[in-house]
Amino acid sequence: MNAVSEILSLRDCLPSRYAIICDTTVRGLYGQKLQQNLTSKGLDVKLFSFPSGEQYKTRQTKESIENELFENGFGRDTCIIALGGGVVLDMAGFIAATFCRGVPLVMVPTTLLAMVDASIGGKTGVNTPYGKNLVGSFYEAEKIIQDTSFLQTLPKDEIQNGIVEMIKHGLIRDSEYFDFLETHVQELMGLDLNSIEKAIHDSVQIKTAIVKADTKENGIRRIINFGHTIGHAIEKISDYQISHGRAVAIGIVAESYLSIKKAHLQKNSYERIKNIFQSYEIPFKIPVDITLSALKDAMVSDKKSLKGTPRFVLISEIGKPMVFNNTYCTSVDIHEIEEMYHALHKH
Ligand code: NAD
Repeated sequence: MNAVSEILSLRDCLPSRYAIICDTTVRGLYGQKLQQNLTSKGLDVKLFSFPSGEQYKTRQTKESIENELFENGFGRDTCIIALGGGVVLDMAGFIAATFCRGVPLVMVPTTLLAMVDASIGGKTGVNTPYGKNLVGSFYEAEKIIQDTSFLQTLPKDEIQNGIVEMIKHGLIRDSEYFDFLETHVQELMGLDLNSIEKAIHDSVQIKTAIVKADTKENGIRRIINFGHTIGHAIEKISDYQISHGRAVAIGIVAESYLSIKKAHLQKNSYERIKNIFQSYEIPFKIPVDITLSALKDAMVSDKKSLKGTPRFVLISEIGKPMVFNNTYCTSVDIHEIEEMYHALHKH
């Protein structure tokens, strides 16, 4: 684990007590080992965990971890080490943001999605019964430690979830990166070290640059939401049975379809977008049981909606988002949404 030496190198500039927060899966795989390694080097480290899964990213879990921290004597001199996928980073990041009014945070992402997406941009938070990520804060980590060796134990469908966000990065910002993803399918799915490290590096650069240009999500940061108006709607209709990555893959293809008429995306580019998902064996058709009316209703609650009308980020080319009256999203005529639905719905 490179993470050990990187954390040790920070010891002079961080507080004296370390709380590793992870989920139960990562605890068994890496949490205990990391705690032992750091303890053997003389650090004061305790390990805290909560059950794996999106359904535990709640205010209740946050409170119970905070209580455990206090019961173990943690206070202002704490450094939180968030070790895990996006769920853990969002949860532990939010705890760090508010514990004793804020303590230093080190992020150690262990899923591909967390490496290229959830660890970048400083968004932390938890879900509520009223919706996902509705309570949280912007809180930057002191350090993000990227260690691809964690990916060795990650199931294939979780690798694919990360690939979806990487494809999105290429589509909204960098056509050469998209070409790379298109031509290195075997290498990336096989976790070839050079290819995966190059791809993670490029994705991190793309997301970091967008986020830096718009830290509070008022302008260009919107483009990160490409594929998400429809993606979030599908996630919600399926009651989160369809994972975020899978839903966003469907959303990306659907919003690329909308981009043909509304943003002049070439048909052959649209075909390339469908093909890349096929190459990574990531389904992109709208599932049979998702009806058009459910989709229309669910899209309205997207945060980009304006006066009850859903809005979409669209692309004019691979690598280029479309600008509409100085904003990066637009509404789309209902007939175009219906046409898209019929073209992409699994019959
Ligand atoms: P996740 O954290 O639930 O991890 C997926 C599964 O993989 C879990 O069961 C986890 O225990 C397991 N796991 C983690 N690392 C592993 C490893 N190395 N080997 C084997 N199994 C491992 O899901 P995710 O896809 O990483 O993250 C999704 C979450 O991230 C969502 O809650 C989403 O809202 C959030 N997110 C946040 C941001 C942000 O900007 N803050 C961006 C994107 C996504």
